[in-house]
Amino acid sequence: MFNPRKFILQTIMVTLLAVTMSMKPEQVNGQGGIEVENPNVVINFGQTITFQARIKTPIPTRQVSLLFRGINEDVTRVETLQVAEDGSVSFTYDASLNIFPPFSWIVFWFQATRNDNITYTSAPTQFQYKDDRFPWRYNTQANITVNWYAGDDAFGAAAVDAAGAGMLAMNEILLISLSDPIEVYIYSNISDQQNTLLLGGEEWSGGHANPKLGVALVAIAPGPSQSIEMETKIPHELAHIMLYRSLGDKYARQPTWLIEGIASMVELYPNPDYARALDIASRNNSLLAFDDLCASFPADAGSAFLAYAQSQSFVTYIRNSFGTSGLGRLTNSYSDGFSCELGATNALGAPLSQLDARWRESVLGQNVTGVAMRNLAPFVLLMVLVLVVPIWGAINMLSQRRKDGSQPK
Ligand SMILES: [Zn+2]
Repeated sequence: MFNPRKFILQTIMVTLLAVTMSMKPEQVNGQGGIEVENPNVVINFGQTITFQARIKTPIPTRQVSLLFRGINEDVTRVETLQVAEDGSVSFTYDASLNIFPPFSWIVFWFQATRNDNITYTSAPTQFQYKDDRFPWRYNTQANITVNWYAGDDAFGAAAVDAAGAGMLAMNEILLISLSDPIEVYIYSNISDQQNTLLLGGEEWSGGHANPKLGVALVAIAPGPSQSIEMETKIPHELAHIMLYRSLGDKYARQPTWLIEGIASMVELYPNPDYARALDIASRNNSLLAFDDLCASFPADAGSAFLAYAQSQSFVTYIRNSFGTSGLGRLTNSYSDGFSCELGATNALGAPLSQLDARWRESVLGQNVTGVAMRNLAPFVLLMVLVLVVPIWGAINMLSQRRKDGSQPK
């Protein structure tokens, strides 16, 4: 069936691809004194990046350098190149030692100093440091491109749908942009994904988003549980990217329980194991204090799982009690630099510890007030003793005085 929206998107993609391709190999940058022909890169993901070009100058050069950096980096690497007789240059960068994040963009350009001491700089060329070990296929809708290599067309279409639904869920929490591109890469298993992150110098965690790059990596195997996994993992990772785009640098100031809680809340399929974990921890009195989930989540898998379950339930409770605007006030408050405990007071009128207690009472059915009273019992006894003993003494003294006063002085 003819789908006009798909047709337009495909046309745009093909045009973009044609523009990119035509820019790459035949690019000649005459910057007055040098020409750089065919600047290109050969990526061996996780191993090497080879930069190649042909430098042409009417006057012989004294020195030719390659300059490159990650698009979000401040530091530019500079390498002096040997120029062959025909002007060709090549430099192989060891990407296993000096790592670039997977799917990040790298920009490179050349500088040539001629024998007459004039230095020329070529125009920059950008490329994406793609994990090229898999035959990626892609499907784009609006600003989201989903890439996958295992699974059929329906797999890709289902992933795009899950991403769209995740964006809608997130749109209820904050105003999202549909213009900045987002890329989702679906690995077919965790070890492929983990490998990519290791080669890219990042530690593995269940899913993974690089909010700054607008890239999310997830592991989903084609099969009967693919829909559930797509509807949980993809919206979760997209939420991280959307939150980062909305908060900018202040994203880093937010407590972990809040960021992970929001990301887990927009998962489209509720995780039944979360409810079970909460129930067990509540009964065993082994719930984690939210105050301990501000900077990071626990390292061990079991506690981390409980941390996700608690955060999802807690943030949902906050949203139900204070509305989406309450959540907004909370992120603003933490953006302003309030501490984990007092940010809640500022935004919602109650400190974090008190919200924690209310959540335990109203969501988990704990009798926090009763527990608090039981915990206070020894102090109450002590207070009674501290107060009663002197009172007793005073009464004693008074009655003694009265006796004494009844007698003539
Ligand atoms: Zn997360």
